[in-house]
Amino acid sequence: MTTTTTGKAVEEVHILWISEGMSCDGDTVSITAASQPAIEDVVGGLIPGLPKVHLHNKVLSPTLGGEEFLGPFRAGATGELDAPFVFVLEGSVPNEKINGDGYWTSFGNDLLTGEPLTLDRWIDALAPRAFAVVAVGTCATFGGIHAMQGNPTGAMGLSDYLGTDFRSAGGLPIINIPGCPVQPDNFMETLTWLLFHAAGTAPPPPLDDLGRPTWLFGSTVHDGCDRAAGYEQADFAHDYNSSKCLVKAGCWGPVVNCNVPKRGWMGGIGGCPNVGGICIACTMPGFPDKFMPFMDMPPGATLSSALIKPYGAFIKRMRDITNHTANREPKWRHNRDKITTGYRKAERR
Ligand code: SF4
Ligand code: SF4
Repeated sequence: MTTTTTGKAVEEVHILWISEGMSCDGDTVSITAASQPAIEDVVGGLIPGLPKVHLHNKVLSPTLGGEEFLGPFRAGATGELDAPFVFVLEGSVPNEKINGDGYWTSFGNDLLTGEPLTLDRWIDALAPRAFAVVAVGTCATFGGIHAMQGNPTGAMGLSDYLGTDFRSAGGLPIINIPGCPVQPDNFMETLTWLLFHAAGTAPPPPLDDLGRPTWLFGSTVHDGCDRAAGYEQADFAHDYNSSKCLVKAGCWGPVVNCNVPKRGWMGGIGGCPNVGGICIACTMPGFPDKFMPFMDMPPGATLSSALIKPYGAFIKRMRDITNHTANREPKWRHNRDKITTGYRKAERR
């Protein structure tokens, strides 16, 4: 048995999921499409070896809301929850030091003052007590749309707020699963790995230096794109009504870490460039500023597509000839009286 970083195997886990960061709740909605595994299977105890899971998410929770819903969060914040918890943050963290006389975003009210409890207060209380901290979606991981240049709320990703040296009570760094929204199975697969780790039967999930699961974000969109052969053969689309490579239409796939074309979106279907959409780099730390304007050709693409043109066009011509030949049976196969189909009479010894 693998032991957890704390040396204790966990039998029951709460998932305290706050989507009151600057967000559209798109990651919560996305998770409902997961199938590897489905959130229902994890919560319903249908996966052998996982701890019992109590999910607290305002959209997916079976409880109705109000204080009944907030109870586990309040208990987690004071260290009084009856079992370890995973803290999931959805949405970016606004800077409440520059909120003027108001506040940017809140989750419930302070029971003593009646004032809104701002997100930073929840993070300060929950993150150090959590077995693991997970940032879901590009807003929570890197800031995303809310943190683009001109950002009036001072919004930032969770690692910017807590610092990259942060370690949870379970001894883990922040686990960042970007995507706008997150690919549903990327989240569920990472959560399941984490829960097996909590149960003491798996090592911690391997992460890169940005806290991303390595097996999900180690390759580029281009590596897994259905149109990659088009790129290699200089077969470029000039509008969206084409099945050719979209790099000249503005696709950033060759330099973006994301597995969506390989994995698809729901049940293996979809995956931006596979189905005609350019990759706008929504998983990347520099999104959106570094990739705008979206419809323009990425800087390196002009040179790379020009360099590949003569080679790719020649290779495509050669492959077309070979493909034509490969689509014919060998010449000795035919329907004639004389058998010349490769038959050889067995020789007697
Ligand atoms: S459409 Fe994008 S990801 Fe796909 S082959 Fe072309 S450049 Fe690469
Ligand atoms: S392929 Fe590009 S746009 Fe699509 S999810 Fe991945 S990073 Fe985002």
